[in-house]
Amino acid sequence: MRLDRFSQRSLGFWPTPLVALERLSDHFGSARLYMKRDDQSGLALGGNKSRKLEYLVGEALSQGCDSLVTAGAMQSNHCRQTAAAAAVARMECHLLVGGTAPEVWEGNLLLDRIFGARIQWRGEHRRGEDLEHFAASLRSGGHRPYVVPYGGSNAVGALGFVRAAEELSLQASNLGVEFTHLVFASSSGGTQAGLVVGSLGVGARHELIGIRIDKEECGPVPFRSRVLDLAREVAELVAVEDRIEAEHIRLDESRAGAGYGVVGDAEREAISLVARLEGILLDPVYTGRAMAGLIEMLRAGYFRPQDRVLFWHTGGSPAIFAYAAELT
Ligand SMILES: *Cc1c(COP(=O)(O)O)cnc(C)c1O
Repeated sequence: MRLDRFSQRSLGFWPTPLVALERLSDHFGSARLYMKRDDQSGLALGGNKSRKLEYLVGEALSQGCDSLVTAGAMQSNHCRQTAAAAAVARMECHLLVGGTAPEVWEGNLLLDRIFGARIQWRGEHRRGEDLEHFAASLRSGGHRPYVVPYGGSNAVGALGFVRAAEELSLQASNLGVEFTHLVFASSSGGTQAGLVVGSLGVGARHELIGIRIDKEECGPVPFRSRVLDLAREVAELVAVEDRIEAEHIRLDESRAGAGYGVVGDAEREAISLVARLEGILLDPVYTGRAMAGLIEMLRAGYFRPQDRVLFWHTGGSPAIFAYAAELT
């Protein structure tokens, strides 16, 4: 694997902790459970976007750009971390945010503002539909914007998760554990594509299980194929020779319930169980839903007692404060 030739701007604290979930494992009495704490990745209350942004901001700086432009939902963790990354990299940040301006700014949205990002409200367009157009208008005004794609999920962003797979491989061998499964939330696909390629690159044998968070497709290409295409692109960038096949992209698409960001009983149960047994906060949109998927697999007897299952905590806890009504 060749990662060293890509520009990188250090933004986080690595490696993130890898912890055993003793009480949660005992509670289900099946496989032993572990957690990779990317919620502790350091940039602006943490999360998986720190990893992608190190490579994206690295590229932006190497191109002499003066601003970052990205998009997301009102409670986007990606927007919050991009706003903070722009601040440390001495760049301006423009966010194209779905919805309309609320009366009270809370959770991630409040933090976007504290980090000094400029926010534009885009109604239905929360997934970056207007990014190129907006960047072009900045360029014609003499600025040098760098477009960070929705979720930070292009091949450059996904390099962060190729590196994450290397990081995990080292931690696992220090701990003397060989993971059999990795379970994580999958939404814009960069996390999954990077982990697929990185895992092949380090020769890890674990099964990767993405829990899909969104219900709707974004564009004509189904999510699964987009992740496959992205993984192939990443593999070529880092010179991983293995051919990436459709069966490498394991996705559970049955968990989206009433849709993106709609909290149901399964998410509430997962958040409260992990909080009360482990003292760890999940988030209502991504990790709560992904943990609910893992819990259902545990209950359905999917794992064997000798399995070692790693849940990748991708962050998101600032959104908790914007979901008070749904979580109480
Ligand atoms: C963005 C995000 C994800 C999903 O990662 P993708 O690379 O977009 O699939 C998962 N969890 C949290 C908390 C996120 O913010």
